[in-house]
Amino acid sequence: MRNESSPLSGELFAELTGQTESHLVSCNSRESEHGAQVLIHADALKPFLRLRDKARQAGFELAIASSFRGFDRQQHIWQQKAAGKRPVFGVDGKPLDPRALSDEQLLWAILRWSALPGASRHHWGSDLDVYDAAAVDDDYRLQLVPEEYAPSGPFGLFRQWLDTLIEEGEAEGFFHPYARDLGAVAPEPWHISYRPVAQRYQALFDAEVFQQLLASGAWPLSGEIQRHADDIYRRYVQLEPA
Ligand SMILES: [Zn+2]
Repeated sequence: MRNESSPLSGELFAELTGQTESHLVSCNSRESEHGAQVLIHADALKPFLRLRDKARQAGFELAIASSFRGFDRQQHIWQQKAAGKRPVFGVDGKPLDPRALSDEQLLWAILRWSALPGASRHHWGSDLDVYDAAAVDDDYRLQLVPEEYAPSGPFGLFRQWLDTLIEEGEAEGFFHPYARDLGAVAPEPWHISYRPVAQRYQALFDAEVFQQLLASGAWPLSGEIQRHADDIYRRYVQLEPA
């Protein structure tokens, strides 16, 4: 816990909210040459490579669909969804008509699938969206939807393997932060998090930091965000059940 006399340093605030890349290193998203370079937290690189080795031994190719995402990118996603330029989905994953929603309804719908800029775990570099590149062709268009990770989907076996590894505590420190549906963020079987780093950031991200974030910029729907700030912080940042 921080106290009044030791405010979070500017650098640490920037790490928490995706406004620096100083905590990150480069990693190939795939083991093969097809991969692109992506950024992940320096402390998570070796554990991730060990997890990838385990995957290979089990017949899978653990690949990264999405790792670090900066504040600007998250803000762009948020702005597009709020403006109806990107689809917004309901609780059940079905597309909604943004014009038919109140500002408050739109806010909750966006938050279910997209974090507030500055409050995404993808800013930390500890969190990755992963899939099995060995299960699909190189030109497969990855969607990151529950059906792909269902038992009958292309990544069903991979998911089963990964979930079992996590349950057994053999996943090199990775876990699923969005494993169960707590009524806020939708369950994301593809999203894994390196606990030693994520836990540290999560603990630093207190309500005061959240207020500092909200005060630092204006987003579409900021009136609604301010009105529900406590609720958003508790359920979407601290991940407490509703
Ligand atoms: Zn994710």
